Amino acid sequence: MPELPEVETVRRMLAEAVPGRRVARANVSGKRLRTSSLVRLPTQLRARTFAMPRRIGKFLLLDLDGGFTLLSHLGMSGRWLFWPPGRKPDAALEHVHLKIAFADGAALWFQDVRRFGMLRVLPTAKLARDASLRLLGPDPLAEPRDGDALRAAARGSRTSIKVWLLDQRRIAGLGNIYASEVLFRAGVDPRRRAGALDAEAWRRVAREVPAVLEESIARMGTTFSSYRTLWNEPGQYGEQLLVYDRGGEPCRSCGTPVRRIVQAGRSTYFCPTCQRARPRRSSPRPRLSNR
Ligand SMILES: [Zn+2]
Repeated sequence: MPELPEVETVRRMLAEAVPGRRVARANVSGKRLRTSSLVRLPTQLRARTFAMPRRIGKFLLLDLDGGFTLLSHLGMSGRWLFWPPGRKPDAALEHVHLKIAFADGAALWFQDVRRFGMLRVLPTAKLARDASLRLLGPDPLAEPRDGDALRAAARGSRTSIKVWLLDQRRIAGLGNIYASEVLFRAGVDPRRRAGALDAEAWRRVAREVPAVLEESIARMGTTFSSYRTLWNEPGQYGEQLLVYDRGGEPCRSCGTPVRRIVQAGRSTYFCPTCQRARPRRSSPRPRLSNR
């Protein structure tokens, strides 16, 4: 599932492709995406000109002239594809649910095999109150928070730090891959309660969240299943992953086999040595004899 770095990669490429381009016509597949019907899109998009795309968490906000925004989510398998003027779109592509033909001959398509994505046009002024965006937490790149702020947000939480990081109401855009990577780099056991993490651990988590995301964006994200960039290229961050999807393989830091566990129905990968809760020197755990 695309996470913030993949969506930001797509946004940056759209930013080079669509601003200033005017829609000549739009066609839809007639199928429904899970979170939106597409029947009104051709009328809503006709003659609109795209502005600079924005992103909040995993949502793409494709602003149009006239005070409208095309709100888009890639879901599990959504992909935006672009062809400049003079290049013919690949007519053999299947599962294309929106085809935009620009007045200058360029084309922008949305393909989504599993149809968990979202495409909706709504007034830009109503975005902040829209049900899909209203509950989102701060974007970790646009509004980075320090350890104290994250710790305050998690006060009293009994959920595990891994599951807490995935909660889009807390941090918008962090998903399963990067939550595992952040906690490994911060040296924090993913099973620890978010509300019980000390200030030092939160400081490390707060530092690693934007660091991991920025490094992944620099490599155009991680490729998994169907994710591709706008130019149909795979992302390259997968080679950099330290623990994610490496169950049983040696930790790149200490050699201990990476463990895979399931938390809230999702796989978590961690190193039981590097991410061990730091023992308290003042009260060493008593060694109990079995006899
Ligand atoms: Zn290790």
